[in-house]
Amino acid sequence: MKFYSTKNKSSSVDFQTALITGMPQDNGLYMPEYIPDLSKIFNQEVKLTFQELSLLIASEFIGKELSKNQIQNIIECCINFDSPNYNVSKDLYCLELFHGPTLAFKDFGARFMANCMGSFIANSKREINILVATSGDTGSAVANGFYGVEGINVIILYPSGKVSDIQEKQLTTLDKNIYALEINGNFDDCQRLVKKAFLDKEINSKIKLSSANSINIARLIPQSFYYAHSYLQLENKHIPSVYSVPSGNFGNLTAGLIAKKMGVPINKFIASTNLNDVVPKFFDTGSYNPKESIQTISNAMDVGNPSNIERIMDMYESIDKLRIDVCSWSFDEKNTLDLISSIYNNHNYLIDPHTSVALLGLLKYKQSYIDRCNQVFLGTAHPGKFSDVVNPAINDTVKLPERLKRVLSLEKKSILLNNNYNEFYDYLLTTFQ
Ligand SMILES: *Cc1c(COP(=O)(O)O)cnc(C)c1O
Repeated sequence: MKFYSTKNKSSSVDFQTALITGMPQDNGLYMPEYIPDLSKIFNQEVKLTFQELSLLIASEFIGKELSKNQIQNIIECCINFDSPNYNVSKDLYCLELFHGPTLAFKDFGARFMANCMGSFIANSKREINILVATSGDTGSAVANGFYGVEGINVIILYPSGKVSDIQEKQLTTLDKNIYALEINGNFDDCQRLVKKAFLDKEINSKIKLSSANSINIARLIPQSFYYAHSYLQLENKHIPSVYSVPSGNFGNLTAGLIAKKMGVPINKFIASTNLNDVVPKFFDTGSYNPKESIQTISNAMDVGNPSNIERIMDMYESIDKLRIDVCSWSFDEKNTLDLISSIYNNHNYLIDPHTSVALLGLLKYKQSYIDRCNQVFLGTAHPGKFSDVVNPAINDTVKLPERLKRVLSLEKKSILLNNNYNEFYDYLLTTFQ
């Protein structure tokens, strides 16, 4: 399949190019030239395992460039943990996406991308340097996905003092091919530095750069797998299904919309945000006004100018058409915390702050939509990753998985840089040229 730039539909590239370059030079984003129609799978009772389903979808997008065996290997390496619909109460489910190695849903995208790159790079001589701006979870998922992969360096930029202790440890305690840069600034500054480097012709002529943010289309493709899988797991398919997605850069929502277009019968999406409400405002007023991000307790969603809106508008063309499939609301910190505690007390179920924002979106939706429907909220991180927020909310101590405990005992290794492109530029050339 070919992938075009949202800024210029007539220039398209193959999957390998979209994957390795990350972003077209015209500052657009890559999109698949068509979305395959897989509605047959969802309209009948076919029993497919998560891996079989993923293989089927992946082959549609990358089947021309990689052999069936290669794709099978990729799927086996990245879809090797479960994503169950946890039944909280009648018709209410948490799609738990946090059972991967870094305990957040970004493991899906990161591992798929890393394994695809690994397959292509096997016969190339030049090293690839992957730049990742992270507001918390992306960096560790990507770093883990690529850890030890020959020929690939991963350079993570994260905002100093704005990620949780656990997140910081996950970002800064890997060695080998993983480099952590602590930037004196916020997430948007990190993202700006990365974008600037990609568009900088001079640096691109000296070292080979690639991206792993949700701007890389290879991150989005595997995220459609779990929507499809989750839908197939639902017991009552005769009632409508609504999915609430806790959104920051809106990659997860974009993947959901792609899944819907493939034929997964999801009737409505709710794009739930924290106080960073650029998109909910867009839905309200019809005008899109990016702003600086605000720091919240659901920090992986602290984004003031979500990049994937570009893709969503490319798919839908107008806000009116988008409103048919999606609604979007913003929620404040108090509601987010209160819900963590009430779900814990009433249902003995612990959710992290991001997941709580998703559930708030569903609850709001149910206030005006009274018919029966499957209500699924996406559980994007394990609550243990945000114990500093969760513990006080529940007046108890969340049990940390072993993986997290081990990371916490390791020593942080990072390089502190100012929010200054020249400093970043010099660092890249002196370290990787
Ligand atoms: C990244 C992240 C989100 C936001 O996902 P987007 O695809 O950027 O909208 C939500 N929750 C958690 C835990 C995350 O790490």
